[in-house]
Amino acid sequence: MNKIDLRSDTVTKPTPAMREAMAKAEVGDDVYIEDPTVNHLQERAAELFGFEAALFVPTGTMGNQICVRLHTDLGTEVILDARAHIYNWELGSLAAISGVVPRLIATRDGHPTWDEIAAVIAPPVYYRARTALVCLENTHNMHGGTVCEATRVHEICEKAHEKALKVHIDGARIFNAAAALDTPVRELVKGADSVMFCLSKGLGAPVGSIMCGSREFIEKARVVRKMLGGGLRQVGVLAAAGMIALEDGPAWIAEDHANARRLAEGLSQLDGIGIDAASVKTNIVIFSVEKLGFTAAEFVERLAGAGVLAGAVSAHEVRFVTHHDVSTADCDRAVEIVGERRR
Ligand SMILES: *Cc1c(COP(=O)(O)O)cnc(C)c1O
Repeated sequence: MNKIDLRSDTVTKPTPAMREAMAKAEVGDDVYIEDPTVNHLQERAAELFGFEAALFVPTGTMGNQICVRLHTDLGTEVILDARAHIYNWELGSLAAISGVVPRLIATRDGHPTWDEIAAVIAPPVYYRARTALVCLENTHNMHGGTVCEATRVHEICEKAHEKALKVHIDGARIFNAAAALDTPVRELVKGADSVMFCLSKGLGAPVGSIMCGSREFIEKARVVRKMLGGGLRQVGVLAAAGMIALEDGPAWIAEDHANARRLAEGLSQLDGIGIDAASVKTNIVIFSVEKLGFTAAEFVERLAGAGVLAGAVSAHEVRFVTHHDVSTADCDRAVEIVGERRR
């Protein structure tokens, strides 16, 4: 029986159209900035996001960390939500690559208000680490794909800039936020100094992320990318798939969200499963198995035995992520299997 893979939206395989585009892609050496396909993808991304320039990076982690590196100095502070990907799932890169200190805010839904941010900005005295950067995450992965509205982003950017802070948006799933809020991505990032988004998640590309910023910022980013070993050569084969992801992917996302809602509603009918179905707004469904007396890792193993792959995101929380390669029927089957594996 086919496995139903709900571990992440990164597991999608390239579509036939992507394979074809990859095979036919016009390529050149991108370290010499001579790959026409990646140049085209970068220009299109910059235009869609309302930035001067954009840069293809092999992973979202590299994109985020290049941005942090460029927006900070050694020994400065970065304000983040306590469950931010940049802090929790990108190793110690903040320290190892940028030499910065995270200043964490425990928020309700992953999206700090300006007041919460303002409260932890270091006072401007020489014996305190200077606050350099605020990182936002939209949608917020570990808070279950929650979304941050454009007005909140705009307020934070404006007030952060008044205090000479930079703002970076980890928009790995910004297209999911855009779909849920019915707001164009460029509106959701307006005012930010940089954004990173993933082609390889809900948009369905096999590899790649894009970072956007000013022209000057992206020229500096190219240098740091090379330093980190991310200077790619005939990357047009990946950019060709990325281009299809960027143009066609956003249209798939509504279906992923409908499937996630359906999963959440199904799970909420099962005794012992802890979930607030109404809070599921995008493609991530996190539920607790604490009342069943299992750890998340134990429950994930039970599900895997029945052909449903999930992730354990905390001691008792299990995560399902919907994507282009799971159907509504797969989601219904996954709910059935959770029901069966509860005892
Ligand atoms: C997946 C993800 C990233 C980047 O991940 P890579 O696997 O390095 O591409 C960054 N931020 C968030 C919120 C993510 O979910």
